[in-house]
Amino acid sequence: MLVMKFGGSSVANRAQIEKVREIVRRRSPRRPLVVSSAHKGITDALVAAARAAAAGHHDPDSVIERQRAISRELGCDDALLEPLYAELRDLLRGVHLVKELSPRSLDYLSSFGERMSVRCIADFFTRTGLPADPHDVFDLGFVTDSRFGGARPLPGFSERAKAAVAKLPTDRIPIVTGFIGKNERGEITTVGRNGSDLTATLLGAALDAEEVEIWSDTDGVMTADPRLVPSARNIPHMRFDEAAELAYFGSRVLHPSTLLPAMAQRIPVRVLNTNRPEHPGTVIEEATPPNPHPATSIAYTEDQAVVTIASTRMFGEVGFLGEVFAACARHEVVVDMVATSEVSISLTAKRTPALERTVDELRALGDVEVRDGRTVLVVVGQHLATRPGVAAEILRAVGDAGVNVEMIGYAAGSINLSMVVADAAVAKAVETLHRTLFDG
Ligand code: ASP
Ligand code: MG
Repeated sequence: MLVMKFGGSSVANRAQIEKVREIVRRRSPRRPLVVSSAHKGITDALVAAARAAAAGHHDPDSVIERQRAISRELGCDDALLEPLYAELRDLLRGVHLVKELSPRSLDYLSSFGERMSVRCIADFFTRTGLPADPHDVFDLGFVTDSRFGGARPLPGFSERAKAAVAKLPTDRIPIVTGFIGKNERGEITTVGRNGSDLTATLLGAALDAEEVEIWSDTDGVMTADPRLVPSARNIPHMRFDEAAELAYFGSRVLHPSTLLPAMAQRIPVRVLNTNRPEHPGTVIEEATPPNPHPATSIAYTEDQAVVTIASTRMFGEVGFLGEVFAACARHEVVVDMVATSEVSISLTAKRTPALERTVDELRALGDVEVRDGRTVLVVVGQHLATRPGVAAEILRAVGDAGVNVEMIGYAAGSINLSMVVADAAVAKAVETLHRTLFDG
């Protein structure tokens, strides 16, 4: 079995969905199970309608009209989605009446995008020669915990999914909702925005799929952001751990936790382009052929803050670092990079009100300095852990470009080297690094 996931832009309209149909048709001997997102923009429109309703503005029709336009373009009968439109109207009316939007209601409302798209797509496929059936993933065993907005399947998912899928007709393509789930009480949940990729890898792992394909609108994973580096190119092979590092650092291709289920079951994940299906994309797997370049990819996250706490108390004292991290944890601040000396500790985090509150607390521990407008730049590659001189080469290249590196992170045996630079320097740093590491 092959799990194929198509993102919102891949199913945006009839022209795109026709491309998807041909891609799926060519793979039909491999028994594809298709996971689909909502049509592009529909989830955003649902969330906007939900928030507007809670704020006193009742407008179910703009999102319904948008969906209706796509389903008409696909030649679907209006009656196909009428029950879902009615349910959506009722729900938005309820939110409008109580003027309150709980995480549970928001998940319920956000779920309509996928529930509508799979019905239209399966109907269209069937009418145009590729017999298919729509499925809500919770009917295939995807029962989750009740963490609305970040739900995960409960133990036993693999057995439930296998049993459910075994009962499906083998001559029809299952088109399954990404993103959503149901808890044990039957309430709809979601795994988090952009979570259809995760649904696909969770299903792939549960069903022992031969591979999970993630179809979007880029030629796989690139060596750097092509907007900064015109010569950025596709990475044909990448290890799971390399891809996971990149996902954490702002690579737009994969949802950070997407890879975990595939990693655990060693199922290759292939990132492909719906608009160029002949392009080989990127395959992410456990073992890859040797990389001829010193690194695999460069990524970055802008607009970070560097917080430095200096205190002579830290010298030789037990538990100081623990207090720093406990303050971060209390305010739910996610720390990305850490560097310490005997008398100071620097860490990076996103600049948020929670960080301000943390900084106020940290002042009790020592002198605190906050520097804004910083970018965490990361070079990822298996050679960083094994080949002498790669880190030196990276730092020298950045230094030669006149970019000041304010902090570095390079853990023992680690496959990434992280650096903090000023936001204003990121274009220059990335461009120089790419030249050194990939065009040398
Ligand atoms: N439709 C959902 C979203 O827009 C999930 C997804 O596209 O992956 O967040
Ligand atoms: Mg998406």
